[in-house]
Amino acid sequence: MTAKIIDGKATSERIRAEIKQEVDVMLAEGRQAPGLATVLVGENAASQVYVRMKQKACAEAGIESFGYRLPEDASQQEVEALVGKLNADSKVDGILVQLPLPAGLDEEKVLNAISIEKDVDGFHPVNIGRLAQKGREPLFIPCTPHGVIFLLKEMLPTLEGVNAVVLGRSNIVGMPVALLLVRENATVTICHSRTKDLQSVVRQADVLVAAVGRPEMVRADWVKPGAVVIDVGINRVEAPERKRGYKLVGDVAFDEVSQVAGAITPVPGGVGPMTIAMLLRNTLRSAKLAGK
Ligand code: NDP
Repeated sequence: MTAKIIDGKATSERIRAEIKQEVDVMLAEGRQAPGLATVLVGENAASQVYVRMKQKACAEAGIESFGYRLPEDASQQEVEALVGKLNADSKVDGILVQLPLPAGLDEEKVLNAISIEKDVDGFHPVNIGRLAQKGREPLFIPCTPHGVIFLLKEMLPTLEGVNAVVLGRSNIVGMPVALLLVRENATVTICHSRTKDLQSVVRQADVLVAAVGRPEMVRADWVKPGAVVIDVGINRVEAPERKRGYKLVGDVAFDEVSQVAGAITPVPGGVGPMTIAMLLRNTLRSAKLAGK
């Protein structure tokens, strides 16, 4: 079998074009543009790239972005004071504090300081708590997990009753993906570093979401024929043949798993671009909720 390729790049471009159209209408009607504030603390190179990508995507969609940088040694108080200032700024509809924060800063406290009305990353404890509870609606769903579910729903008419395995239980990917799948009425198994006989558990999956951060860990014989495989992993591996000396691979061995799976996301070009599309969607939603 050769899997259908789930093209996250194309889907994200479609979503971003729809957002731009909506923002264009807002602007044509003389309404204020949605605004996203990014907060980058320290010098983490990957974080700098992510923030730049997010700002560029905002500009392309007509969303205003406000970039804030604090030094590596910024105090907890300084970070929280900035968040407080942005909470009060009516031009700002979304606040994105780029994670991870430098060691010594209390991430939970910082996320807690963001007004839940501006929590476009969806990591505020109240938003996550609502995600975990039946009958409660989070104001915003975390972007990468939302992108995963969006791509799955494009592939499968319903996730109800589907056997889903989530490989990874992090706060930012694995756990929220699992919670979202439960909300979709899937039967969910969460695997992690202490899972016994991982391979045979994964092989039960009709839907597999891999978010472990281990290059090409999931092999063809781990995957049930016909399964839908969403690969969240982004791992740098050496590739001397490439000009830049490395390449990006997922947590799934794409070449072999794509011979077994029914559908699969590539890396890059799968989940990655969906994260930014969902961030823009959340920012637009926040602006609308604020009456813009
Ligand atoms: P974390 O390191 O926070 O979590 C990894 C999870 O995988 C943990 O739950 C860990 O288990 C589990 N795990 C690690 N090794 C194994 C193993 N050998 N067997 C079974 N389980 C294992 O990673 P993240 O969730 O933050 O990220 C996962 C991947 O997704 C990374 O490659 C990251 O780059 C990528 N990513 C992509 C994004 C995007 O597309 N936009 C956004 C965010 C992340 P335990 O809990 O027991 O330690």
